[in-house]
Parts: sequence; C-alpha cells; structure tokens
Amino acid sequence: MNSPKFHNIYTQLPKSFFSRSTPTPVKAPSVVSQNKKLALELGFDLEWMSSKEGTAMFSGNDFPIGADPIAQVYAGHQFGGWAPRLGDGRAHLIGQVQAKDGRNWDIQLKGSGPTPYSRSGDGRAWLGPVLREYLVSESMHQLGIPTTRALASVVTGETVYREKPLPGAILTRVAPSLIRVGTFEYFSSRKDTESISQLLAYSISIHFPELDPKDAIGFLDAVISKQAELISKWMGVGFIHGVMNTDNTHIGGITIDYGPCAFMDDYIPNKVFSSIDVNGRYSYEQQPKVIVWNLVRLAISLLPLIDDTESEAIKKAELSLSKFDKTYHDNFRNLFLKKIGMSREVNGDLELLTDLLTSMTSFKADFTQTFIELNPLNRDSTISSPLNFLNEWKVKWTNRLELEKDPFTVMSQTNPRFIPRNHLIEQAIQDAILGNYKLFNDLVLASENPFKKSLENEALYTSPGTDSLVSQTFCGT
Ligand code: AMP
Ligand code: MG
Repeated sequence: MNSPKFHNIYTQLPKSFFSRSTPTPVKAPSVVSQNKKLALELGFDLEWMSSKEGTAMFSGNDFPIGADPIAQVYAGHQFGGWAPRLGDGRAHLIGQVQAKDGRNWDIQLKGSGPTPYSRSGDGRAWLGPVLREYLVSESMHQLGIPTTRALASVVTGETVYREKPLPGAILTRVAPSLIRVGTFEYFSSRKDTESISQLLAYSISIHFPELDPKDAIGFLDAVISKQAELISKWMGVGFIHGVMNTDNTHIGGITIDYGPCAFMDDYIPNKVFSSIDVNGRYSYEQQPKVIVWNLVRLAISLLPLIDDTESEAIKKAELSLSKFDKTYHDNFRNLFLKKIGMSREVNGDLELLTDLLTSMTSFKADFTQTFIELNPLNRDSTISSPLNFLNEWKVKWTNRLELEKDPFTVMSQTNPRFIPRNHLIEQAIQDAILGNYKLFNDLVLASENPFKKSLENEALYTSPGTDSLVSQTFCGT
C-alpha cells in the first residue's frame, strides 16, 4: 500500500500569501463517498484510499509525508461590497500531488476546522453542502464544464450547529489551483505590486504556461476568454451559481465554491435560488453581466503590471475587457444552436432560437426537459408533454433542419438527460441526515453518464411535480 506523495509549492510564495494552519482532528470520521476514477487519475493507491490512513487524511486527522497544511488569504467583493480580508476560513490546502500526466493538483479539505481567517465562523461544514458540492461539481465535470473536483466526503462524527444541530462533514476538493480574483484584489488593495507580480507568475505557470510569467495583459485576456466560455456553458445547462462574488471567481475559468447553487427547472431567465440574493444580483440571466463586473476588479488589480503609465494601462485593460462580449456570445450561440440540432449558423437561426426561448419563458417550460422532448431520438420513453405550445415553431425548425446532416445526434450529444435537480439533492440530503445514502449514491451514478439514461429510476430524470419543487436554497453552509 502506497500513500500519496505530497509537496506544497504555494508555501514557496511569500509568507503574506497564507497562514500555516492545521486541520482540527475530528472524533469519529467515516467515509461517505470516494471518487475512485479521479483518485486513479491522481495516482492514488485505491487500497490506501480505503485504509485507516486514507480516512485520516480525508478527515484532517493525519497526513502523509510531505503534506504541509495552510490556509490561503484572499479578499473579495461580496454582493458588490468590499471585504478586505477573507481567506480560507474553514478550508486547508494540504498540498499538491503530481498526477500521472505530470500536472500538479491542489488537494484541499473544506470543513476541516478554524484557521486564522475564520472570523466568527466555526471552520466547519455540515453534511448538506458537502454532499451538494460533491454531487454538483462532479456532475459539472461530466457535463464538460470546467470545475473544481470532489475526491472524497466524510462525516466527522461531530455535530455542527446551523440554527439546529446537524452532522458535520468534510469535503476533499481538487483543482489545479484555488486562486481567485479576490486573491489579486487582496494584494492590490495593499498596493503590494511585488506580490501581485509573484501571484501573476504563479498563476500563469499553472493555468497559462504558454504565456510569459510577466505578461499581465496576456493573462487578463486569457482569464476573460476562459470565463466567457465557462459562463456560456453554465447558461447551456441552466446552472445558477448563486454567489458570484469575486472571491468565488477562479482565475483559471473553472467553477469554484458551490454554495446555494442550483440547476433551473422551469425556464425563468431572472430565476434566483439563493435565499440571500434578495435583489437578484446573481440570477441566471445576470451571470454574463456580473462576471464582467468581477473581471473589471481583476483588471484594476493588474493595472500597475499592465503599463507604467496608468492611462495606458487603463486603455489596454479596457480593450481586453471589451473582447468578453464577442467570446461569450459566440460560445453561447454555438452551444444553443447545437441544442436545437444546428451544427452551424445560417441566416434566421438566431431569430428561431430567440423565438424558442421566448415561448419557453411564456409557458414556463422545463429548461432541460424541453430540449430532450424536442429530439425524436428520445421518443422511446416517458415523454409526457408533447410540447404543443411549440407547434408553430416546430414547423419552421423542421424546415431549417433539412440543411443539417445529423441534427438529432448533435442534440443528443449536447443536451443532458441528467442534471442533479434541486428537489432530488434536497431529498438526498434529508435521507443522508438519517443515514440513508441510497439516493445520493444513485445521483452520483446517474451524473457519471449525463447524456444517457443509465439508471432505471425514472424519477432521477424528470422535472419535479408541483408538490416536490424546491425553488430556494439556503446559505447556511
Ligand atoms: P463562501 O460563502 O463559502 O464563499 O465563504 C465566504 C467566506 O466566509 C470565506 O472566507 C470562507 O472561508 C468563510 N466562511 C464560510 N463559512 C465559514 C465557517 N463555517 N467558518 C469559518 N469561515 C467560514
Ligand atoms: Mg468562497
């Protein structure tokens, strides 16, 4: 049995980038789930994964040699308001492991106890958000959407208080880095240009190694482009992140910090799930606008490295930011046209797409299900509503599809059959509190093949009935 080999390159950065902090041991850890496929990619020994030593690591009780736990510092704009120092308040970066492909991956525990950045928080997580993040982040990955990954979840055997007593849990997250727009803002707000330049070089080496380590504008361009792609992909599956604060915006363009996130059921463009997002700042349709707001914060942090003359730096940053719209809209259009079987755009396609989305809004059609039901290749099954409200639209659409070779295969490859719907996640969490993980495990299984119906259980693939709809998520993470 081999334990994984850790090192921690983040500790080579200046001391002001992190605090040394050790996870607080827990009483009676027990494993809920382990991601064996990911573990193998990372080069973990499966025997070690399921050993006492494995459980000890995933619960923060003990670590293999080379691990060097730290909490990373960052700042951020939360709902538009400036927070000068946030940082990992309940997470520990244990270090990196080198995967089989030679790349380094950060291994982080979340819910592993207080750190110097905890403020008044307890440093813990309860089982609900841990299972939600495990399931949703792995689903996103299987849907082809860049994201942090989930390697393991454990219950701690301890109680966490969130209005009521709940089972404590810890998630093990994996990502190429955990650097946020807020990490740059932290040093920028302290006018610490030297540190920004070190953070830039570090970020480039991990996420954009083709760039020169000092190329601030190249970096800004690259982050903007990655985020434009990412948000278009969120839109394509009806994903609402829910807390797009700058501290939850990753500089590698991957989805990070799953809180009160959810996939939309009915297509309601201004849909919000999070109970604390009272003004709809982070609604579904706001996401492409809010990300630009966040990217402006990144651009401001980089200004001193973009050009010595501030006015020149601003000009260059503005040019870079102005490219977001085209990248986003190109990606959005390609993706949504594929959702209706079109492999390329011809005149009139955008109108057709807009008409569809408008009708879907008027009829509060289920976002995921509508694209499934439109595809005749799916007519096998339990398709219940014949989409009568689209009859007129379908005539025009069918005519247009005559120009396409294999539109329905394109649709099958683009439109997921499975998304982890909110009502199912809520039910899985309620069951898990009582010690029953069947639904959670089934959801994880279904998420491994999102473009197929791989499990018999019909309920995993259908929209919620009015009695089971869950339209709000709570932050009590
Ligand atoms: P989040 O909403 O998860 O993105 O967290 C925002 C900030 O609050 C981060 O700095 C977290 O580390 C911190 N935080 C959230 N929950 C806790 C907790 N239970 N204990 C300590 N810090 C927390
Ligand atoms: Mg966060």
